[in-house]
Amino acid sequence: MDDCIFCQIVDGDVPARVVYEDEDVLAFLDANPLAAGHTLVIPKSHHETLDEVPPEPGASLFAAIHSLTPRIEDAVDADGSNVGFNNGAAAGQEVPHVHAHIVPRFEGDGGNPIHAVAGSPPDLDDDDLDALADDIAAAAGDHTPD
Ligand code: 5GP
Ligand code: ZN
Repeated sequence: MDDCIFCQIVDGDVPARVVYEDEDVLAFLDANPLAAGHTLVIPKSHHETLDEVPPEPGASLFAAIHSLTPRIEDAVDADGSNVGFNNGAAAGQEVPHVHAHIVPRFEGDGGNPIHAVAGSPPDLDDDDLDALADDIAAAAGDHTPD
């Protein structure tokens, strides 16, 4: 994707502070960090949202996130981290090339948990929750391991 900033970073046409690279994945520091060590982890191939990522780069992406998160925490002496995706424009995704944010967190840093990202919580009773669980389980059924 010629007009994708993250593809341009993958291609070396835009500079970035790369912290990790393998065949499928690149990780680099966020240009506007929310904390020291704020890192973005991307598949090298262009996919806009998680549902568009094929299984193999998806597995490599998770492996890199899994490996990098504790190493980043160690490198900046963090006490924890928030790890997540803004998945789609409605969720705040601004760069349309799927990317995980690893945001190191520090005791007393004044930030919030991931629960702070959504809007007003919905008013759901037990029946609503049961129905939702059934709907999601049915939708997930084809994709869960045996
Ligand atoms: P999003 O809202 O799409 O989840 O977040 C995109 C992130 O990419 C932002 O945190 C932003 O600071 C970062 N970003 C945008 N453009 C660039 C860039 O050219 N280089 C780097 N390193 N980060 C970028
Ligand atoms: Zn791209």
